[in-house]
Amino acid sequence: MYNQPLGLSNHSSPDTSTMSNPRFRIAICGGGVGGLTLAVALSRHQDIAVDVYEAAQSFCEIGSGIGVWPRSFKVLRKLGPDFEQQLLQRCGYEYTEEYVPSIKNRKSDQAVGIELFDLMTKGKLMRFHRADFQGVLLSFLPPSCTTHNAKRLISYTQPLENCSRNSSITLTFKDGSTATCDVLIGADGIKSIVRPCMLRELAEDMDPDEKQSVLSCMNPIWSGVTAYRSLVSTQKLRARYPDHRALREFTQYIGKDAYLVTYPISLGKYVNFSGFTLERDLVDLAYEADTDIPRPSFKGKTNDEWVSELTAQQFIEPFKDFEEDAQHILECVEKGTLLAVHTVKTLPSTNFGRVAIIGDAAHAMSPFQGSGAGQSIEDAYLLMTVLGHKSTTLETVPRALAIYDRLRRPFSSEVARRSMRSGQLCASQEDVPLHELGDTITKNWEWAWLTELDDALEEAVRLVEDSSIDVN
Ligand SMILES: Cc1cc2nc3c(=O)[nH]c(=O)nc-3n(C[C@H](O)[C@H](O)[C@H](O)COP(=O)(O)OP(=O)(O)OC[C@H]3O[C@@H](n4cnc5c(N)ncnc54)[C@H](O)[C@@H]3O)c2cc1C
Repeated sequence: MYNQPLGLSNHSSPDTSTMSNPRFRIAICGGGVGGLTLAVALSRHQDIAVDVYEAAQSFCEIGSGIGVWPRSFKVLRKLGPDFEQQLLQRCGYEYTEEYVPSIKNRKSDQAVGIELFDLMTKGKLMRFHRADFQGVLLSFLPPSCTTHNAKRLISYTQPLENCSRNSSITLTFKDGSTATCDVLIGADGIKSIVRPCMLRELAEDMDPDEKQSVLSCMNPIWSGVTAYRSLVSTQKLRARYPDHRALREFTQYIGKDAYLVTYPISLGKYVNFSGFTLERDLVDLAYEADTDIPRPSFKGKTNDEWVSELTAQQFIEPFKDFEEDAQHILECVEKGTLLAVHTVKTLPSTNFGRVAIIGDAAHAMSPFQGSGAGQSIEDAYLLMTVLGHKSTTLETVPRALAIYDRLRRPFSSEVARRSMRSGQLCASQEDVPLHELGDTITKNWEWAWLTELDDALEEAVRLVEDSSIDVN
């Protein structure tokens, strides 16, 4: 592994001694959690050339927290002890597989809040500042990976007749430049360009009804959820309220149609703050199914399409009736961001030919189980397993990508469904009596600490090795 400073642009050149004749050339479009995890994971296959194309000028992450549940953290551990060590240093606590209280839940939309339950999890939720997490990934990119910043993909063309070296995929970027690759992985987030291009290819020869259904998945839809995000200075909170629970533990302040989540990150420097308001009809609709019922757009509620900066006063407004404890943190918010949370419908496929999508491009989900990034990590690792397998060649790449789709898409869709259910349970307070909320929420969430990716990884290898099995 090679350590590199954060945010370098076009920094590494391929190791030409091993890369003069790579097995194939993978272009990863998007250098967020999913894209960078894939690039780092592929570093163990030095005969595969990797290019990461990132739209931003430098690799940067918004200033907020991110939690990784034990199931996905176990996948990160597979990237090696040095990698794990770097991550642990950033979150400042040890890895464990013991049962621990992870999230304290309170009923808070009243003058005096009450304790509801502790979410007990097998293993800890590993919490990071996003920039710290991304910095570790960047520092482990191998020399076989070249990164290109300020490269916003606008389209690609994929010749489908054969899979020879002469039939490269051509990528076109916003600056007018082009590049070629043998395999394209869209890790370009919720506003993915690869997703609609790929779905159009998939739908090409379909009958009109089927085509319409596939194309209806191209664009993200507003989930009915609005997120309020901020980082609160620990110093400020401690100076005013030295014993505030947010300084030491992860707390969910649950209220009807609105709730708050707070937890310390960056070795205690900040308290990550996320508030949510839910338009319940829409959330219920999103949970029920991937319906085609038209949904209102978020447009018009803010100047920007999805995001806007808020003053402290605007930020506090939706939570003004919450208990005192919540008010004390809100007092310390200086500014914050409002985000209209969008999701992607369950896709009919996440691969076509030699193109596949991972992470939010494939399954952007609601944030109520803090699992979107974890799912992108799992996608990346399974994709590395099938593409890197020694028997995968340029000709068999489409089969490898079909195996990825078969093993990951049902799981990530189910996670998306459960995540929406978690939000619904917290915000509705009608479906389930309060004294049963803890059990119901825990059962809905326990996949994140009681299951592992390993079975899917074993199955992936079996399917790659036995080409007689139909994987489509
Ligand atoms: C409020 C909130 C809280 C959350 N908390 C958690 C949590 O605690 N735990 C968790 O697991 N998940 C959480 N998530 C979800 C998580 O943030 C996402 O699922 C995750 O970031 C997705 O990673 P990604 O790599 O797929 O996409 P992204 O992180 O969005 O990265 C996509 C990258 O692609 C680049 N890009 C976009 N378009 C192009 C283009 N055309 N060409 C080139 N590059 C392009 C972007 O610049 C970006 O760098 C939360 C989400 C929200 C909204």
